[in-house]
Amino acid sequence: MPTRRRMHTCDMPRPIEALIHAEALTHNLARARAAVPDARVWAVVKANAYGHGIARAFEALRAADGFALLDLAEAQQLRDLGWRGPILLLEGVFEPRDLELCSRLNLWHTVHCEAQIDWLAMHKTQQPHRVFLKMNSGMNRLGLRPTAFRAAWTRLNALPQVDEISLMSHFSDADGDRGIAAAMQVFGDATRDLPGERSLCNSAATLRHGDDAAVRADWVRAGIMLYGSAPDFPAHDIAHWNLRPTMTLRARLIGTQELQAGDTVGYGSRFTAEAPMRIGVVACGYADGYPRHAPSGTPVLVDGVRTRLVGRVSMDMVTVDLGALPHAVRGSEVTLWGRASAGATLPIDEVAHAAGTVGYELMCALAARVPVRLDGGS
Ligand SMILES: *Cc1c(COP(=O)(O)O)cnc(C)c1O
Repeated sequence: MPTRRRMHTCDMPRPIEALIHAEALTHNLARARAAVPDARVWAVVKANAYGHGIARAFEALRAADGFALLDLAEAQQLRDLGWRGPILLLEGVFEPRDLELCSRLNLWHTVHCEAQIDWLAMHKTQQPHRVFLKMNSGMNRLGLRPTAFRAAWTRLNALPQVDEISLMSHFSDADGDRGIAAAMQVFGDATRDLPGERSLCNSAATLRHGDDAAVRADWVRAGIMLYGSAPDFPAHDIAHWNLRPTMTLRARLIGTQELQAGDTVGYGSRFTAEAPMRIGVVACGYADGYPRHAPSGTPVLVDGVRTRLVGRVSMDMVTVDLGALPHAVRGSEVTLWGRASAGATLPIDEVAHAAGTVGYELMCALAARVPVRLDGGS
């Protein structure tokens, strides 16, 4: 196993690491492009590139037309990495002085409320800003109501601090059966004769509705699909969308136990062996970002072979069924999600689903104590 030496020679306290697969990020970005060939693609890199690390993901994603994020420090980081292209602040500025950084770093920013327009009107700059005026088309999170949208646009358009105004909205149901028709109707009615580029789609809308020119519009905002998770799992998986896992969390067995029928495993004795069986103890627990709510039966790969969790996840360990793995020993590779050395993959969505959450949460929650390595970066 090529990584074994590495995992034991670097000064890691435990045999666990995360790998970020640069080539998979690049592949997934190409998938976004292919889904909406005549639109431009924002690579959404908020939350430290969904837990992957902006600096690690940057090179692999630099074929994007721009980067979208929330945090001004992350925008600064992208400029420091040498990115001169568009950067969009998806929630706009949080206080008036943030506008100075927007001017200095040439950041495009969302305007979702009247206060942000007031701040712009008072902002002193030689550099007019490009803004994305956001409509609340039914999600009721950020954005101006359709009835207030035109007045906000007119106000912005009169400001010397504003250069170009684009129009955006965000779908609440692009991943599900409810769909986007109602939001499209609301957005279309309220913006029909307004000029400017438009941006509506997240990953789910890009993949599921991107064949409609009005939906894909001028810019899509691709996040989760870049990171190898299907936005509409379990309706579709990454194989269906031809996406590749970009993050692998893997560890090793640090022990094994032989159980007799009736023996139980772990805190709360939540798993009982019905017959003699062998289990393995893995150097990964919830303090590494593995979901504590993952129940017995959650899939896991040992030496690339699919098996299951047994018993509760604890802080530093999980326990796995070795019934189908007579050759597994202390030191065997365990893939919690992502790609096994042997080639098999376990999509993060399957683990998330078993634990009652989504791939987004697991990748964002990768713990700081897990060493991360860029695989295949240039
Ligand atoms: C996070 C975010 C996206 C990306 O969503 P995904 O589901 O990860 O593709 C797009 N637009 C906005 C406004 C966002 O906040």
